[in-house]
Amino acid sequence: MTGGLVDPALADAPCLGAAGGPTEADWAAAVKVVRDLPPDGRVLLICHVNPDGDALGSMLGFGLGLSRLAVGNLQATFPGSAEVPEPFQGMPGLDLLVPEADAYPDPDVTICFDAASEARLGRLADRLRDSVSIVVDHHASNTRFGTIHLVDPQAAATSVVAEEWLTRLGVELDAEIAECLYIALATDTGSFRFDVTAAVHQLAARLLATGIRADEISRRIFDTRPFDSVRLYGEVLSRAEFDPAAAQGRGLVWTYATLEDLARYGQRPYVLEPLIDSIRCAMEADVSCLIKQVAPEEWAVSLRSKGEVDVSRVAVNLGGGGHQLAAGFTGHGSVFEIMDAIRAELEKSVITPDAAA
Ligand code: AMP
Ligand code: MN
Ligand code: MN
Repeated sequence: MTGGLVDPALADAPCLGAAGGPTEADWAAAVKVVRDLPPDGRVLLICHVNPDGDALGSMLGFGLGLSRLAVGNLQATFPGSAEVPEPFQGMPGLDLLVPEADAYPDPDVTICFDAASEARLGRLADRLRDSVSIVVDHHASNTRFGTIHLVDPQAAATSVVAEEWLTRLGVELDAEIAECLYIALATDTGSFRFDVTAAVHQLAARLLATGIRADEISRRIFDTRPFDSVRLYGEVLSRAEFDPAAAQGRGLVWTYATLEDLARYGQRPYVLEPLIDSIRCAMEADVSCLIKQVAPEEWAVSLRSKGEVDVSRVAVNLGGGGHQLAAGFTGHGSVFEIMDAIRAELEKSVITPDAAA
């Protein structure tokens, strides 16, 4: 069955707007940690498992920024770091990346990007407990692990927080840093469709002013997939189901992809990431769900809402996390068991006018 509650207290907490962004004291503490680093200090940067553009982009963009300050010895890694998803293999800053097994066992400072909880860091979570640890994130469901929290639930991407920290450190943006932060921002905003604010576009403008080419970056990250993945999409989309009664009648569209599907088309898991956007466009449903098999009894579940359901609450209650309108968790068992658990949680997660206030 699906994972149980990680933290029962968290499950009952409101998932949006529960906390403001970093305080001036948080920023001052984070800036001081970097300023006080001895030249030979070991700094380990980590991000969440199966990294997306925001996890890698904010980590590598910040890492490149730190390298410009020439403080400390830098390493970057993530759980299962042997596999950088293909779309990100040309990213600047990848030379900072080391295999997880080679990461400093005892860093002086550990900085963690885009992870809502320690569970997203696998064995690397140990490093946070044994060093000064700074958590840079934007998930409303962040569990506030680590020593210093630069967590802003209002930020469209972790890279927004990373860029502010770089600015406060006096680092000037250059094209390499900007490319990483732009990939992060473009990924988490769905290419500037979600979380679109003046601040998001102002950050994008600062990044583009370094001379990076948004068209080339977007083509590489979003529009470069093998032909056979297109045929795989066809098959997975053709089995999508519409459940109008789900979420107290708000409606649910869902589908799944198995390891067997990937093997039949000779595809790697990363090609499935954009598929949730193809099913979420169905206008009859508020909620969409894509269930991607990662092991015989293990599935990565993506949830999206258009505004009437808090899918972060669903994901947190099933052992995951995320944002009100985009969340995920790792499900165990069969697709049908996972769907039953999701349906049950959806009934309890409709946003009522009172809860949204
Ligand atoms: P995805 O559906 O993978 O694009 O993820 C949507 C959001 O949910 C992101 O903010 C993720 O960080 C979060 N998320 C996805 N999977 C998990 C998980 N297993 N645990 C916690 N958060 C997750
Ligand atoms: Mn992420
Ligand atoms: Mn993110």
